[in-house]
Amino acid sequence: MHCPFCAAVDTKVIDSRLVGDGSQVRRRRQCLMCSERFTTFEVAELVMQRVIKSSEVREPFDENKLRLGMLKALEKRPVSADDVENAINRIKSQLRAMGEREVPTKLVGNLVMEALKKLDKVAYIRFASVYHSFEDIREFGEEIARLQD
Ligand SMILES: [Zn+2]
Repeated sequence: MHCPFCAAVDTKVIDSRLVGDGSQVRRRRQCLMCSERFTTFEVAELVMQRVIKSSEVREPFDENKLRLGMLKALEKRPVSADDVENAINRIKSQLRAMGEREVPTKLVGNLVMEALKKLDKVAYIRFASVYHSFEDIREFGEEIARLQD
């Protein structure tokens, strides 16, 4: 990249190392023209899909919203923060693996329910009932009965 001091085209990397959990690369660079040094950070750009709401409105995928929804369902339940983060990362990989540019919110909701089902049955029921995924109260009752088996 160009030198931010003199805009020279050639800069060389003098040091390169992984930072954080290894998801970033930090590089020290030096300009071949003016010898100034600067640092760059490199991270993978993982673009998430847009989500299609039931009103047909499209909006950007919001990881925080997803996390808040899950945490609300998991309130006072014995599930670690690490397990929640892992579940969120799995949901994001599943979405990306679909290769679609837009996904219905319902599909995202289904993935969250799948994840919660594995993490904690109570949280799953809480989320599912708020999410209105059950067509009627009978279906909801049947699902609870299934979980109790
Ligand atoms: Zn320079």
